[in-house]
Amino acid sequence: MPGLDEYRRKRDFRRTGEPRGRRTRGKANRFVVHKHGARSLHYDLRLECDGVLKSWAVPKGPSTDPGDKRLARRTEDHPREYAEFEGTIPEGEYGAGTVIVWDAGTYRHLGEGTLAEALDAGHASVWLSGKKMRGGWSLTRMRRRGGESWLLVKQDDDHADRKHSLVDARPESVKTHRALDEIDGG
Ligand code: MN
Repeated sequence: MPGLDEYRRKRDFRRTGEPRGRRTRGKANRFVVHKHGARSLHYDLRLECDGVLKSWAVPKGPSTDPGDKRLARRTEDHPREYAEFEGTIPEGEYGAGTVIVWDAGTYRHLGEGTLAEALDAGHASVWLSGKKMRGGWSLTRMRRRGGESWLLVKQDDDHADRKHSLVDARPESVKTHRALDEIDGG
């Protein structure tokens, strides 16, 4: 998935308010999770890495229970500015539906080498300092054929919580505090 070619090919920027994206250097190590009410609701985990946002679509969203393995489908790299995006992608456009910034913060790569190297090797651990997601999380690649499937799993640390569902307890945007259904066509 080199750069933003696939991201741009899928979108008509005359129609959608999503950013086209510039490949620039800047403040590193941001992460964001978008809650995306597309045809099927999912959560898009994005980690800033090599000037883009490495991205995964997590159908059930993250779980703070280390016993839960959440499917995370790798999606195309997104531009860094996408971290700020909240709004509605119009009907007929790729990913049509409403997007909110469900969580945001910074991450630290845990382990040897860079995050990019770890992702290439198929296993990465990160420490998230978000408003909702905190502590250690791991991403492990399951297979490459027909798109990459990964598993997102909470590590067993002080931020693990087996009792509560984070996605149910905290449905709102961390940017505007609105729920998905409070955002209309604008
Ligand atoms: Mn999405």
